[in-house]
Amino acid sequence: MAAINITNVSKIYAGGVEAVKSVSIDIVDGEFIVLVGPSGCGKSTLLRMVAGLETISKGTVEIGDRIINDVEPAERDIAMVFQNYALYPHMTVYNNLAYGLKNRGTPKAEIDARVAEAARMLELEKYLERKPRALSGGQRQRVAMGRAIVRKPAAFLFDEPLSNLDAKLRVSMRGEIRQLQKRLGTTSIYVTHDQLEAMTLADRLVVLNGGEIEQIGRPLEVYHTP
Ligand code: ADP
Ligand code: ADP
Repeated sequence: MAAINITNVSKIYAGGVEAVKSVSIDIVDGEFIVLVGPSGCGKSTLLRMVAGLETISKGTVEIGDRIINDVEPAERDIAMVFQNYALYPHMTVYNNLAYGLKNRGTPKAEIDARVAEAARMLELEKYLERKPRALSGGQRQRVAMGRAIVRKPAAFLFDEPLSNLDAKLRVSMRGEIRQLQKRLGTTSIYVTHDQLEAMTLADRLVVLNGGEIEQIGRPLEVYHTP
């Protein structure tokens, strides 16, 4: 758990496209921030800079008082949840959940305890020996969430995690994500182009347009009806 401070951050891609233009957001420890806006407004570029998947052209990103511009993605103490789940198809659910911890040399007893805890929270206990192809879309998304949870990171970064699910499942999964995040208190940045999803999830919304912040505030401040 940690505050995230994004200060005057810009992204200029090779070829000169300025995808993010001097954006500053101070995210409080435990806060759930949603980046929302039309396709191409710079949401995922901003998220990917926080994650370390894109270099930061200008400005700084701090996670818990540490400037992470030059810190390797794996050392940033963040966990990312993607729309395509990014699960290992040949591994069981247990091994998908355990993989990152094994790589870090976490002791087996600790791995088993964390996997069991995540599986309990996500109601995956009965599916630990299955491979992803034998799961429903919602269960796969829970495994993806579980892989983030077991790391006990300072922050979760969500990149349109629900956009592959059907409308009904999307609504129930976003409720689950919000409850889990509240329970864990993990600072989160969530990217979506869906305004309703943004309003439902956000403590604060950041509306991006052309790489700049158009509005920032609580959902009712941003989408007020006169
Ligand atoms: P969003 O996530 O809001 O859809 P993106 O962050 O993906 O927006 O893109 C913002 C802008 O940056 C767009 O104009 C897009 O075409 C451009 N862009 C994204 N990725 C790259 C890249 N790798 N190289 C050059 N331009 C890019
Ligand atoms: P694979 O078949 O891919 O080689 P396994 O399923 O045999 O992998 O599991 C590898 C490791 O994970 C073993 O140490 C095993 O004890 C452990 N493991 C697998 N499933 C569970 C589970 N449900 N709970 C605890 N440990 C498990």
